[in-house]
Amino acid sequence: MMRAVLERLRQGKRSLDFPEQASHALVPRFRGRPQLSPARCHEGCAECADVCPTGAIRSSADRIELDLGRCIFCSECQSACPTGAVEFTQDYRLAARSAQDLVVDGREKEVRASLDRALRRLFGRSLKLRVVSAGGCNACEADVNVLGTIGWDISRFGIEYAASPRHADGLLVTGPVTQNMRLALEETYAAVAEPRIVIAVGACAISGGLFADHPEALSGAASVVPVDLYIPGCPPHPLTILDGLLRLLGKIAEDPVRFPASQQAGLIEQLPTTGHSQDAGRPRSAECSCQQ
Ligand code: SF4
Ligand code: SF4
Repeated sequence: MMRAVLERLRQGKRSLDFPEQASHALVPRFRGRPQLSPARCHEGCAECADVCPTGAIRSSADRIELDLGRCIFCSECQSACPTGAVEFTQDYRLAARSAQDLVVDGREKEVRASLDRALRRLFGRSLKLRVVSAGGCNACEADVNVLGTIGWDISRFGIEYAASPRHADGLLVTGPVTQNMRLALEETYAAVAEPRIVIAVGACAISGGLFADHPEALSGAASVVPVDLYIPGCPPHPLTILDGLLRLLGKIAEDPVRFPASQQAGLIEQLPTTGHSQDAGRPRSAECSCQQ
């Protein structure tokens, strides 16, 4: 027993300070909020849209629109673009209250993610979420789970996962909602007392993602239950999920979510490295399964 206590003291604090140390958890290959520059597009070019596997990007004469709710952050559009009009930054703040706010078009706008004042007062100090895996591939689920580990310790913010919808304030849904999971989601939602909130995590839960239009899958959580917060990614980085949840509760500043790409690149270069270029500055205990 004494040895265990001494070991804990030796190890010290292992949780990531958020948001202060957020950049330490990002690897150089991480792809966050895309920055679009439609002015650079050649007339008639649609190479980015042509390679997109999910139909997330649309281009016309003087306009590009990228729907973060459909995007799987594969970066094929960035590679295909001959003029650099599509660039992914390392801005992990992607969550929004409405699906419309997930559309990026190269123009700055402020995206708010917080609940109204009454719900913030109700859930701000303690939010219990029942996780419903509605047909996902397990990557979103893994990055939701990792927030409960010592590296992230989401409970220090008053957020916990509940074992039963009867004990929950809301649902956190992953996956496109398969036909098999439709009834389970409806009944789980009905079992949560009002007022209740629903958070859709990942491209599948927002739009169906790669499974959109499949006969055995619906088009995300909103096709079954009303959604209060959308957290994009495939899977979303734990930072993106944490940022979305805390902004929903009004626990971190509501600020515009765009950073210039050059500023972000500079930030990453300053990080200490641990030998492997893809592990730059990553705390050992903050591992996640993110493929981005
Ligand atoms: S990164 Fe997103 S928008 Fe670009 S090709 Fe991949 S899925 Fe489509
Ligand atoms: S959004 Fe991507 S990572 Fe999440 S369940 Fe769907 S395919 Fe898997």
